[in-house]
Amino acid sequence: MSEEHHYDLVVVGGGPAGSSAAFAAAKNGVKVALLEKENSIAETVRTSGVTWIQNIKEFGIPDDCFNPIKNFSFCSPNNEVTISDSIPRAAVLDVRKTYRWLAHEAEQLGVDIFVKMNVNEVIKNEKGDIVGVKGTGPDGKVTFHSKVVIDASGFTSTVCKAMGFATQWKRFGAGAEYEVKVEKVDSETWWLMVGQQYSPAGYAWIFPLGNNIVRIGVGIGKPESDVDPTQRLKELIEKKLGPIKKLGEITPIEFHYGLIPNDGLSRKTVFNNLILVGDSAGQANPLVLEGIRYAIKFGRVAGKISAVAIKSGKTDKDALYPYEENWRKEIESKINSAGKVQDRWIGLTDEEWDKELDIIKELKSEEFLDFIKADFGLSNMIKLATHHPKLAVRQLFNLVKGKK
Ligand SMILES: Cc1cc2nc3c(=O)[nH]c(=O)nc-3n(C[C@H](O)[C@H](O)[C@H](O)COP(=O)(O)OP(=O)(O)OC[C@H]3O[C@@H](n4cnc5c(N)ncnc54)[C@H](O)[C@@H]3O)c2cc1C
Repeated sequence: MSEEHHYDLVVVGGGPAGSSAAFAAAKNGVKVALLEKENSIAETVRTSGVTWIQNIKEFGIPDDCFNPIKNFSFCSPNNEVTISDSIPRAAVLDVRKTYRWLAHEAEQLGVDIFVKMNVNEVIKNEKGDIVGVKGTGPDGKVTFHSKVVIDASGFTSTVCKAMGFATQWKRFGAGAEYEVKVEKVDSETWWLMVGQQYSPAGYAWIFPLGNNIVRIGVGIGKPESDVDPTQRLKELIEKKLGPIKKLGEITPIEFHYGLIPNDGLSRKTVFNNLILVGDSAGQANPLVLEGIRYAIKFGRVAGKISAVAIKSGKTDKDALYPYEENWRKEIESKINSAGKVQDRWIGLTDEEWDKELDIIKELKSEEFLDFIKADFGLSNMIKLATHHPKLAVRQLFNLVKGKK
């Protein structure tokens, strides 16, 4: 007989969104299963792990999970700019440690974590609503019945696709990265590298992790470019282009590869008994394709709202809607504005990038960070759009405000 379980909530995917949702749901008093298809949480790393110290503190992520960053360097074919801050506001995460910490926090609150559990089927009731999932585990088929399911399966969006609520993302970023040991590096400075030679639709990066370890990567927008990021990354490292040459000898430690949705906030994220969160919901800042902080933040919101709904005995889409309302209110307009800047950036020629860096040079560190984080709601963005002495800067920020 196949194995069968009954839970209040089943969360599919043990990434940052899934672990955070499981944590918050358990904290709010419901019985939760977290299902992860890999052999362990964060077995495969698919991200560069840049995030912001303010968010790290808000989430309670321990200090030994990240390397602080205080200088932000950009280079284009013929230009370079470094914006230096007085204190570190950005960070590069030890991704494995952080994701495992998030899962451990959930486990400590009583969440049952099933690894090696590949979810491949949904269970529906007579109305066609989801009431559980089936997966294949080490001992065969396992059935999980639940009142609510959270799809936190990332880019693949396994559950919502199986329900017929979504198809494959059409616009997305593909990224390849080597974690490497280098001879010399300033561990407080990150590099973003733009222009055709680095990435024809995206950017390349050097993100330091401390102890002379860095992540060198290339991200490429699809379908805008058909260049293979892995191939381009190998070329950049071989030729030691731009700031890569400053690193001296490079010894590879680990290779990372991943895909991130870039279709904007196009999906509905609540259905009867079902919530989508993280990459599965397309919750990413399109400017630098970062989604970890949203995955954690809205994972927690999804978990809490699911628990409240489960305890009230009403788990239809209306009962779960406060989740969608919450995240849309917080990020929808920012992500839409960031999408406009991304559209501008994706079309820039090398010469235009050289000029764009001159605009970026004009920004103070807080302005630059708010900009790159897509924190556009802030009043200084409005000030930049109306009062900045340079026309080019005003134009960039008017774009953010929605003007041509
Ligand atoms: C190359 C690259 C670089 C990036 N760099 C950054 C960055 O610097 N900063 C940043 O904030 N964001 C970055 N991102 C984005 C970030 O990684 C994602 O936004 C974030 O991981 C989303 O978290 P998630 O939990 O929704 O999905 P994921 O982290 O993808 O987690 C999904 C989990 O679900 C599991 N799963 C999938 N299918 C199934 C199934 N059928 N059954 C069971 N389990 C399943 C997976 O194994 C995985 O563990 C990057 C993305 C890429 C591709």
